[in-house]
Amino acid sequence: MRGVSPPRHVIVCGAGVVGASVAYFLARRGVAVTVLERTGVACAASGKSGGFLALDWCDNSPLGPLARASFALHAELAGELGTDYGYRRMDTFMLSAREQGAVRGGHRVTPPGWIDGAGVVTAELGSTETTAQVHPAQFTTALIEAARGHGAGLRIAVVEDLVQRDGAVRGVRVEGETLEADTVVLAMGPWTGRLATRLKLPRIYGLKGYSVTLEAAAVPAHALFLDYRTADGRHLEPEVFPRPDGTVYVCGMRDHQPLPESAEGVEVSEAACDVLAGAAARVATTLAAVPIMRRAACYRPVTDDGLPLIGRVPGVEGAYVATGHGPWGMLNAPATGLALAELIADGSPKLVDLDAFDPAR
Ligand SMILES: Cc1cc2nc3c(=O)[nH]c(=O)nc-3n(C[C@H](O)[C@H](O)[C@H](O)COP(=O)(O)OP(=O)(O)OC[C@H]3O[C@@H](n4cnc5c(N)ncnc54)[C@H](O)[C@@H]3O)c2cc1C
Repeated sequence: MRGVSPPRHVIVCGAGVVGASVAYFLARRGVAVTVLERTGVACAASGKSGGFLALDWCDNSPLGPLARASFALHAELAGELGTDYGYRRMDTFMLSAREQGAVRGGHRVTPPGWIDGAGVVTAELGSTETTAQVHPAQFTTALIEAARGHGAGLRIAVVEDLVQRDGAVRGVRVEGETLEADTVVLAMGPWTGRLATRLKLPRIYGLKGYSVTLEAAAVPAHALFLDYRTADGRHLEPEVFPRPDGTVYVCGMRDHQPLPESAEGVEVSEAACDVLAGAAARVATTLAAVPIMRRAACYRPVTDDGLPLIGRVPGVEGAYVATGHGPWGMLNAPATGLALAELIADGSPKLVDLDAFDPAR
């Protein structure tokens, strides 16, 4: 047993927001870290997500304390990382809308002025006290750059396997060679599932979603959650997030296509993206007939019980996993990173209890 002696060298596999957070908080406390990333920093869900953050939307679930700690950490990091990645507080509304026709009844709460389409505002879901956003790719990149500023290394490489001897981790296999480390963190998002069976971890898989980024400047900081019916009767729940960089991001549309080999192989459906752009256009005239700057698709990492895996890989001393954050990976990455860094370096997490997320559950 290594006990609580500090790790000599930690390899973090995956430069999504979770791997980036773990690397940042380890490097900040002086631990030697190397991040290995297959394709590019934030190339997958962490570069294509909504970046929406909520203080209390995970309350009444085991995620509640993690989310609250992470919401607070996001505010601290916005000052600490020394770069602008679009962090800001938002007001958040629920809307009901249809692709064709009107929703019965009028607004149930006073709508923001720019919500002038066929939708009905049904509730205020959050305020600047409780909801916020980051630009996900910029945030993930800022964490990696800050980790590098504290001495961490970043290498583009495909992690092929965990290398272990006598029940302890020895490093990872890259291009058939062993890269040595006494501690390895698996944070490869849905691709962590490729190693799950061999490592006796719960199932980890990917759930695909689509997004469009619209060019629409000066839209106020109001996040919208839509209850939307298409003309052919589908019930969808698009989310609309105006960003401070003059764009509006819209996501939704679950798709059960299997996870490809890497982020580069993720296929985008034009039709699904058009539905999302159409939904945004229905609720605000300012979002109708604006250019679509980007159509994207990505896979969020999910587990069968809906809870992330954060902690020790059972039976392999020095191996840790951090994935399965589902729809809340951007929100929960900072607390995951700090708590896991504490577990690795001190032997137990101080920030939040990780028992509910134990990979051995
Ligand atoms: C459409 C959509 C919208 C979302 N909106 C929000 C939101 O508003 N708020 C929120 O909190 N969350 C949101 N999420 C969820 C969030 O995006 C994810 O939970 C989070 O990005 C997962 O981060 P990750 O680091 O675990 O995984 P990923 O971002 O998938 O990163 C994993 C990384 O590992 C790398 N990798 C894979 N295999 C290997 C290998 N063999 N070797 C080396 N590297 C490898 C990949 O290339 C990738 O860069 C959304 C998700 C989707 C799909």
